[in-house]
Formats: sequence, structure tokens, C-alpha cells
Amino acid sequence: MQNLNLKPDEKSPDLILVNSCIVTESAFRKTRKKCQSLRRKFGDTHLIVFGCAAKIYHEKCKEIADYICRDYLEVGDLLSELEIDSRQSLSKRTLTAAPAAESLAGDSARELIPNSQFPNFPEGRTRKLIKIQSGCDNFCSFCLVCLARGRSQSRSRKEILDEILRAEDIGFKEIVITGTNIAAFACQKTTDFKSSKFSDLIFEILEKTKIPRIRFSSLYLQYLDKDFFELIKNKRICDHFHLSLQHTENLILKKMNRPYSQEDIRDICQKIREIRPNSCLAADIIVGFPYETEEIFRNLTIELETLPLNRIHVFPFSPREGTKASEFPLINEKVIKKRAATLQKIARKKWDDFLQINSDKTHEVLFETESFGHSTNYFPVTVKGGNFRNEIMKVKGLSCCLGKLKKNEKSVI
Ligand code: SF4
Repeated sequence: MQNLNLKPDEKSPDLILVNSCIVTESAFRKTRKKCQSLRRKFGDTHLIVFGCAAKIYHEKCKEIADYICRDYLEVGDLLSELEIDSRQSLSKRTLTAAPAAESLAGDSARELIPNSQFPNFPEGRTRKLIKIQSGCDNFCSFCLVCLARGRSQSRSRKEILDEILRAEDIGFKEIVITGTNIAAFACQKTTDFKSSKFSDLIFEILEKTKIPRIRFSSLYLQYLDKDFFELIKNKRICDHFHLSLQHTENLILKKMNRPYSQEDIRDICQKIREIRPNSCLAADIIVGFPYETEEIFRNLTIELETLPLNRIHVFPFSPREGTKASEFPLINEKVIKKRAATLQKIARKKWDDFLQINSDKTHEVLFETESFGHSTNYFPVTVKGGNFRNEIMKVKGLSCCLGKLKKNEKSVI
């Protein structure tokens, strides 16, 4: 965007870019709704939809957008082609027809992809996202990501290290390791989880860079081996672990095509807790998945209450066309809604307890704004006065909760 001299203009844009998502069915509904409201607000302004939904729901996206691009690379091509300073020159069209979903998962996609194909995330933040991998071959029965993003491709270590060293030079204090399935780094196929070189890569980053904080995005359990548990002993690794559990009951895990069991979940949570006792353990849970009987749901609630989790992100199941799970016998929507509400209650209680326990502790906070930041375990902190942006400070006697100061309390730095 910067290369093309485009400047944001929220009041009267010439172009609107919508990055679409299909992680859940409701994510696509929201994309559609957003496009419709942008259309109402900005009339004929040219609307580009790109990302996962544009690839998979190509026809549906045609109904809501003027241009459809598979990814940001195609968006770049499109913007370069358009004479963007002359609105008359923009003609309505659809860019390339997105290829059929199956062809996106071709074998050729497995080669290591060159650096230029990974986005340079915008600078000016205090936390730098480092994408190490893209795509997945696991074909969980509810997921379209394998089709939308293609098979797993890992970036070269050299490029990753170079990018981190550049981030370090610029002054970033924290990096977040991201990707579709980061723990599958360097796996030829993500189903071959023993060939993961994730821990190896992170050890190398620890050795060759001085970046103070390394945070992980979502982690899939099957890749977390003894090297990983050795790795997280290092205090530069943020004690905030987001586990992609999806469920805790063995029958449902099997139906989801997830290659781990309830015993593995307990074991991994326990190990992380032992090594980093104050860590924030977060998990995604899909509720109302087909075959989730009342009894299974009850067991799920008991298990979630018992597991040492601090955050639970609850996703009511909604079938997505083209997945195996969409052919399973569905559970009534009202039942799913009710179950989701029960889990939300457990999630709120767990998060409140976490905030409570952490409010008396001393934390190392990286400030993202003058006065707001997060600790290593992602505890949100607000302090009064000063400008600490991009500083890591020890904060004690916290008076904060979810970024808001509580009344009649003082922060001490
Ligand atoms: S591991 Fe499963 S849910 Fe995650 S991206 Fe791969 S197929 Fe989708």
C-alpha cells in the first residue's frame, strides 16, 4: 500500500479492502454483513475481498464484491494495475477466477516458499509478527483451512532469523511466532508431526538473537515433545500458551480427526504448569460438535473446570460446506447456544480467577501505548502517568483489570 502511495481515508475512500475469513461459518457471515454495510455507506466505491473466503466461497464473494483476490499478493497486483488516482479508470471486474479449492492443496505447494511471498507486517507496533509457516495438511473434519491455505509450507530459517534481527535493530522488544500451524515447522506433511523442527528453530532464535520476548500463537498438541518442554524453561519465551484443543472428549476428538486424547491434554497442561507455574493457558473449544451427547457435554464441562486453563475461547459449531463434519448428524442450534452459554460461564470464571491471582503479582510489562501493555503471561496492565511505550517495565501492585483502572486504587511502578 505504501509503495503505491495509498493513504487511508475513512470518510471518502476510493477503494475498500476486506480481508475475509472462514475459520467459522459466522466469520463468513460477518464478512458478508460488513461488505453490505460498506456498500450502503460508500455506494459505488470499489470493494475488494481477499483471503480465505475469497478462495473457497468465490461465487458467494462475487455477490458482495467488485474484485476478488486470493491473497494480498493478488491484491498488490490488482492495485498496481489500477490507475488508482483516477476513479474513472476503474472498471468493475473480477480479477482472476480463484482456482478450485482442491488445486490449492497440490503437492507443489509444499516447497519452501520464498521470503517475498510472506507479508511484511506493518511496523510502528511494539510487537512484531513473524510468520514462519503457512498451510496445513491435517484435514480436521470441521476445517476448510487445508483447502483455503493449501498444504504446509515453511519458510527458510535464514529468512526468519534475518527478519527477527531486522526487528531487533528497529527496536522491537517482542516477536510473535505466527502461521497456520507453527509447531509443524519444517514438517514435509503436518500429519508427520515427529518431523517437526519447531523447537529446534526457536532454540536457534534464542541463541542467535537478543529479542527479549518470544510469544507463540496457537499450538497444536501433537507436536509438543520433550524438546518443547525444555524450550519453555527459557524465560525469554512468554509464559502464555494458546492450545488448540477444540474438545476434551475422546470420541469427539476422534470425529474431529484430532490425533490426541484427553490424557494427552491433561499431561501437556500439567507439564506446562509445572515448568511455568504462572503461565496463562488458553484454549479454543468447539461446542455442539456432532455426536456431542448430553453426557459428553457434561463430561466436557467437568473436564474444562478441572483443567488448569485460564482462558477458554468458545466456538459454537456451525457446519461448513465442503467439510466432512457438515455431513455428520447436526445438533439443534438452540441446544448448541445453550451449551455455549454454559461454557462461557466457565470461561468467565477462569479468566476472572486468573486476573485476581495476577493482580497482586509483579509483572514485566511491555507497553504498547503510553500506559497500557501486557505482561509475559498476557495479563493486561494500565498504569497512570508517564509514557512507557515500547518499554519493558516491572509493574507491581496492579490496579488494573482488562485495561481499565479500578476506582480508588493506585498503581505502583
Ligand atoms: S490442524 Fe486442523 S483445524 Fe488446524 S488448520 Fe489444520 S486442519 Fe484446520
